[in-house]
Amino acid sequence: MAVSLFDTASPLLALRPQLDAAIAAVLDSGRFILGPQVSEFEREFAAFCGARHAIGVANGTEALTIALRAMGVGPGDDVVVPSFTFYASAEAIPPTGARPVFCDVDPQTGCVTADTVRAALTTATKAVVAVHLFGNVAPVAEIEALGVAVLEDAAQAAGSRGGAGRPGALGRAATFSFFPSKNLGCFGDGGAITTDDDAIAEHARTLRFHGSPDRITYEHVGYNSRLDELQAAILRVLLPHVDDWADARRAAAARYEQAGLGELVSLPVATAGSQPAWHLYVVRHERSDALAAGLAAAGVEARAYYRTPAHRQPAMAAFAPGAALPATERLAREHLAIPMSPALSAGQVAEVVAAARTVLA
Ligand SMILES: *Cc1c(COP(=O)(O)O)cnc(C)c1O
Repeated sequence: MAVSLFDTASPLLALRPQLDAAIAAVLDSGRFILGPQVSEFEREFAAFCGARHAIGVANGTEALTIALRAMGVGPGDDVVVPSFTFYASAEAIPPTGARPVFCDVDPQTGCVTADTVRAALTTATKAVVAVHLFGNVAPVAEIEALGVAVLEDAAQAAGSRGGAGRPGALGRAATFSFFPSKNLGCFGDGGAITTDDDAIAEHARTLRFHGSPDRITYEHVGYNSRLDELQAAILRVLLPHVDDWADARRAAAARYEQAGLGELVSLPVATAGSQPAWHLYVVRHERSDALAAGLAAAGVEARAYYRTPAHRQPAMAAFAPGAALPATERLAREHLAIPMSPALSAGQVAEVVAAARTVLA
């Protein structure tokens, strides 16, 4: 492909010597699990988010399950979650014993709103998973004003800024994924939970280590879910660059606008007061499959991520939503991710827009 959907390699090129040194230092140390790299990364990542605590875990999916349990979610509870998101946002709920209740999203921003959440509340609702979709920042304070605890799914939102602060510091707790293609990605699987709440942090720390606070007494049926030292050392090299990469993603988005892409397709809309670090740049068009095929023929990679929304996945059949989710269904049909990365050049943006213009002419 002349222009690929992601470019995860280019931003790392200049950091290669530091990455090699960080990896070598871990090998030399002989500490691989829950050592100094993880504690230092947890301190630095909490500070980056503006949260009191960060807890490294094995991936973004287990981060959600562990955070929900640490917030007290369990059997008999309902957890509201959008259906237009990566499947894992919903998949992480049943392992807590709670039931996912699917809600709709705003058709422009792709994020949950106080109105879409309100429509899904039940007498058993214990928490809401507010997904910062594609890096856009969900209106967490407005949802908490409904009187329900919010867990931010910030897997796609490292480097984004909301009017009230960064993802990771907006809800009762938040979760991140460090999957390699995310805005802050390691070289394998990794994740984190952030929170200001001491009790939630302590509970999450215990759950990630077999439910044991002291490695002697096992208080809960927990998990073996840890960020490892190698990944933490790598993340410590990358973290100082996340804001610059986010700026570069926003600059690429601005170039798409200046190049007239908005005349051809509906552009992503940032939520009020937010500066999204577009993890994916997702446009909307009635003929999105034809657009994707035409772009591919022109050497431009494009992909629809969530054609079948979470509530219509076979594994979620038992948790079908009571109400219709019209914005979800429409977004599922019309969305298309086009190339986005901190390294996306002005020339590549021009190529993508020219190809889209030809396809849609
Ligand atoms: C990637 C992602 C996850 C899951 O993270 P993993 O590290 O792959 O387990 C959860 N929610 C959203 C919105 C994601 O994009």
